[in-house]
Amino acid sequence: MSDDPRSLVRRSQFPKSESRSLVTPIWPSVAYASESPDALDRLYEGKESGYTYAREGHPNAKILAAKIDWLEGANGGLITGSGMAAVSAAFLGALKAGDHVVAGDQLYGRSLRLLRHDLPRLGITADLADPTDARAFEAAIRPETRAILVEVVSNPTLRIADMAAIVDIARRHGVLLMVDNTFTTPRGFQPLAKGADIVIHSLTKLLAGHSDVLLGYVAARDPELQAMIVDAAVTWGLAPSPYECWLAERGLYSFDLRHQRAQENAAKLADHLAGLDGVAKVLYPGRQDHPDHNRARAVLGDNFGNMVSFRLNGGRESANALTRAAPHIAFAPTLGDIGTTLSHPASSSHRALTAKQREDIGITEGFFRISVGIEDIDQLKAEFAKAIEASNR
Ligand SMILES: *Cc1c(COP(=O)(O)O)cnc(C)c1O
Repeated sequence: MSDDPRSLVRRSQFPKSESRSLVTPIWPSVAYASESPDALDRLYEGKESGYTYAREGHPNAKILAAKIDWLEGANGGLITGSGMAAVSAAFLGALKAGDHVVAGDQLYGRSLRLLRHDLPRLGITADLADPTDARAFEAAIRPETRAILVEVVSNPTLRIADMAAIVDIARRHGVLLMVDNTFTTPRGFQPLAKGADIVIHSLTKLLAGHSDVLLGYVAARDPELQAMIVDAAVTWGLAPSPYECWLAERGLYSFDLRHQRAQENAAKLADHLAGLDGVAKVLYPGRQDHPDHNRARAVLGDNFGNMVSFRLNGGRESANALTRAAPHIAFAPTLGDIGTTLSHPASSSHRALTAKQREDIGITEGFFRISVGIEDIDQLKAEFAKAIEASNR
């Protein structure tokens, strides 16, 4: 029996129990009550651990962060309300007006927008450079450059950044190296162990894995820098929801299994696509014919990932026919879901570019990016064979 509630308004105590919940509880509370002003002092001074207000932290975020910290070899990582909130928190915490950023030229679309349009309004400027070309990348560094932002695998052409050279460039110029590790996951690449200063994730993608939460993560190696990032995130209001943290934690339980299966499927599907009529080119870092295959092996080991891109011989008409003939493969702008999803950069992520700019980086109207899921591989092969055959008609 629980205590006599005495009032409908007063909150009840958790009933006494000899046994405990197998599953992580959800703590939706925005505010946390303390015993006294002295107790609150101890909390704010870091002498006791606890919570005050959910924008500053809550148990579900802490539990989730500890798991990703473990995966990334980080300490005190921060969960944010989205991947973009994590990218924003890193910049807002680490940079000030007058600083300059050198960033990869094929980053996630919104990160590019942040660098081109939003940070300049705060007096932070950026130049974009090709991270597969160490010389071009270093040439973009200026005296006022304070940070580098790269993704290991570019979107959607799946080129592999020259990470060893970029780590070296960052160190020699005394510049913070930020790595968005969303595509590679900590199983493919561990930025902090390889010499980066800050690791960023969109947990929305492979780590949570079920397309039902929007969350991010950011961790800096230096605790002082991490404290500045956390402060910025709390002030700018980039906090995550307890419900979403709880769902993401549940997603993580199966991450390794999903990741292995999706990666195996991707390698098999890439080879299958390469043998189909109507497919002009398949891009998969694990294939010998990938332009950065050797570097992929050096940077990622055997973890070539779950992303495969391909180019049809045909144009927009063929692309339309393909998605229509594959109704069970979601044509949707995301990646890392348990199910296979298809995206068409020319009409989505890269629509702001001119056709010429797209062609320069190999993105034609017949170009697709696949985020390979964990379905039965024979079913996937059959569905793609049928869709590509339809695109040839
Ligand atoms: C999706 C994505 C983001 C943004 O994450 P959201 O959770 O959608 O805000 C950032 N970087 C990369 C590489 C992504 O794929």
